[in-house]
Amino acid sequence: MHDHRKLGRELGLFDTDPLIGSGLPYWLPDGAVVRHTLEEYIRAAEREAGYRHVYSPVLGKRELYEISGHWSHYQDDMFPPMDLGGEQVVLRPSLCPHHALIYRSRAHSYRELPLRIAELGGMYRSELSGVLGGLTRVRAIQLNDAHIFCTVEQVEEEARGALELIRRAYAALGITPVRYRLSLPGPGGKYVAAPEMWRRAGELLTEVLDRSGLPYEAAEGEAAFYGPKIDVQVADGAGRESTLSTVQVDFHQPEQFDLHYIGADGARHRPVMVHRSIIGSVERAVAHLIEQHGGAFPAWLAPTQVVVLPVSEEELPEAAAFAGRCSGLGLRAEVAGPERGSLGARIREARLVPYQVVIGAKEAASGDVALRLRDGRRLDPMPGPEALTRVTALVAARGTELWPA
Ligand SMILES: [Zn+2]
Repeated sequence: MHDHRKLGRELGLFDTDPLIGSGLPYWLPDGAVVRHTLEEYIRAAEREAGYRHVYSPVLGKRELYEISGHWSHYQDDMFPPMDLGGEQVVLRPSLCPHHALIYRSRAHSYRELPLRIAELGGMYRSELSGVLGGLTRVRAIQLNDAHIFCTVEQVEEEARGALELIRRAYAALGITPVRYRLSLPGPGGKYVAAPEMWRRAGELLTEVLDRSGLPYEAAEGEAAFYGPKIDVQVADGAGRESTLSTVQVDFHQPEQFDLHYIGADGARHRPVMVHRSIIGSVERAVAHLIEQHGGAFPAWLAPTQVVVLPVSEEELPEAAAFAGRCSGLGLRAEVAGPERGSLGARIREARLVPYQVVIGAKEAASGDVALRLRDGRRLDPMPGPEALTRVTALVAARGTELWPA
């Protein structure tokens, strides 16, 4: 595997500037395309799975995090509070408290549950500058987050649904998890809420994993302070593991924020909160994708999907027309003309582009195109419209296959 920091710079995906600060990378146009496409995939998958999206501010009052428990359990990782006219506000270390308040802002009936709230939102972590680098250790994080407010009976089904979203996303992205880890509390005082709730939540997640048939291992002492969780682990080139996706059961926040719903019996009941993330932070996910694929992203995610290569200046009009038809179909296409060097040099330069279309005198006259695939395959010439239809369908399928074998 590759180092995403080196490749990210070489491929013009992201960079940093000492004046902006360490751990605060910015995204260059090609990197922004990858990120945007990934975010849109996530939003579409969530919409289809019944999530509703919200936006919430990246700041909150210190009291909010005192209530949520972040202030006492997580303060070392938080930025210091800012004083604003007698109030203290902090950059949020998580989205959960905002979503709990969004839930609390309206009355809810049991008929509305499970209620799924999702957001791709910013959160902040005051990492020390010594450990910062690339996209994996950053101070500003864009998190793919969601909270499901549901009954205890619904937790199993919701956790199972979240694991299914994770499985599908990994298939589309070409990511292979190294392990599923069930994190349970260990000895020590950082865990909140009643022990019987912990036991119940741990049992629910164990049941989901057992029924899924996924191999997993249980780790004690790795749980978040508010509840047990399933972590989906991936590894980098050096074999270092990190967590990309999570599903966590939380009995604590609903208690802290006094959340409730009206049951069929007309009485108030406490919902459970399931926190889940399909790809974790956008930064870490893209870092992993860069390393996993060496910059050769799945076609649907590639910054440029089709490069059109006219052999000589004679074919420039046909090349531009073909690229225009690609763009009209929503494909990201560009023309690499002879001003950029010999055909061989241009093909090498476009080595990460999934589909390469060479247009010579013969193709310009016939309207046929000969597709070259990034993996070295060369397809027989086919009519231009057919090539467009097939490439568009393959990209829309959001898989990792460039062309059927
Ligand atoms: Zn959360």
